[in-house]
Amino acid sequence: MTDHYAVIGNPIAHSKSPIIHEAFRLQTHQDLSYEAVLAPLDGFAPLVQTLVDKGYRGANVTVPFKLEAYQLCNALTERAKSAGAVNTLIFAKDSIQGDNTDGVGLVNDIEQNLQVRFADKHVLLLGAGGAAQGVLLPILLAQPASLTIANRTLEKAHFMVQRVAVAHAVCNITVTTFEHLNPPSLKQPFDIVINATSTGLTASRLPISDQVFAQHTLAYDMMYGRETPFMAQARATGAIVADGLGMLVEQAAEAFYVWRGVRPETATVISHLRKSIN
Ligand code: NDP
Repeated sequence: MTDHYAVIGNPIAHSKSPIIHEAFRLQTHQDLSYEAVLAPLDGFAPLVQTLVDKGYRGANVTVPFKLEAYQLCNALTERAKSAGAVNTLIFAKDSIQGDNTDGVGLVNDIEQNLQVRFADKHVLLLGAGGAAQGVLLPILLAQPASLTIANRTLEKAHFMVQRVAVAHAVCNITVTTFEHLNPPSLKQPFDIVINATSTGLTASRLPISDQVFAQHTLAYDMMYGRETPFMAQARATGAIVADGLGMLVEQAAEAFYVWRGVRPETATVISHLRKSIN
């Protein structure tokens, strides 16, 4: 019997998840289907219940329902708890379990695809919204030497750190403003700089100095599909630049693994997807 899965969002027509999961299905010969489902903005929970009633095995959740999915679940993984959001639902007999694969997706893309290890690196995370919250615990578990988090609204960054890092503070964590990422406050460039702000959507430039980057720095923007001002700034300094397309595929691969117990190969999927969006 074919097992059914879906990605739920609003809007959802732009989602690449059905293409990615179809590639995983073909590659692994799993008997499953995966479709995009539009949920009304006020109708997420009833839609999930409909899928459960129809015998679906799970679903991905995207904007704007990740927080609502978190509230809906009656069991949560540690990484979903730390993210405060759910992007993967697992439908069991009498429960809905929530997981979050975004952070592992980012770490796997950086460590495995881009071949840059977090261990012993000085890392700068820009932003403290949903995406930053989701990646915080997986970054800490990858054991960087230090983690600096900068956000426009400082309290949000402090709250994020208190929520997650206290129990997992395996490295120095500094919370700061963008303005403090300038000399003389800035003493040295970072090894990895991750842009988890939504400034790429509005093409606005972050007020950070070029000195956060060095030639060896990996400058990673979670946004994909276009050159953002962050990427352009980093590129001009000679840093190594990457976008979030690999993260998108890796978070899907992790969800596929959670559901099916099979880990799909991702490099060719990333490569095909990149050709199709360019
Ligand atoms: P949120 O709306 O939750 O957070 C937005 C963040 O950006 C906040 O930290 C906010 O700061 C900051 N911000 C917004 N505008 C500005 C500005 N003009 N100047 C400085 N900071 C600003 O968004 P998400 O966290 O959900 O998404 C962030 C990005 O990550 C998006 O580009 C999204 O596409 C991408 N993403 C990519 C994924 C992938 O798989 N590749 C997965 C998930 C997200 P403040 O707190 O002060 O408001």
